[in-house]
Amino acid sequence: MAGEPQADCLFCKIVAGEVPATVVRDTETTLAFRDINPQAPTHVLVIPKAHYRDAGSLAAEAPQLAADVLRETALVAEQEKIAVTEGGPGTGFRVVFNTGTGAGQTVFHTHAHVLGGRGLNWPPG
Ligand code: C5P
Repeated sequence: MAGEPQADCLFCKIVAGEVPATVVRDTETTLAFRDINPQAPTHVLVIPKAHYRDAGSLAAEAPQLAADVLRETALVAEQEKIAVTEGGPGTGFRVVFNTGTGAGQTVFHTHAHVLGGRGLNWPPG
């Protein structure tokens, strides 16, 4: 059922405390932790504690929770001191939801990548 923990889901296991993670923010509905394979000086994942497979299904099935995740991405950026809106390369941050294997999604529990602390190219690879 939508939102229910999935036994075979890595991020559900992180939420349950069964797999360790370096948590940077923890709210009633969301968790933010450092990516184990960081692609930038700041690389934090923000997830809903409830299980939804990707950003689109989260937004469709639990819009308030999707808003919680988005709000947390901004608060992570502030906490990590990368939420600079007027600056040069290495300031500001990027929020990415990979969706589908072809786009690089490997964990099918919605997660926002919050990346910053270096220049970020556009278009992304
Ligand atoms: O968008 P994608 O599904 O590829 O992102 C999954 C992310 O989860 C990867 O960046 C990977 O490094 C991260 N990860 C993690 N902790 C784990 C397993 C994966 O931070 N235990």
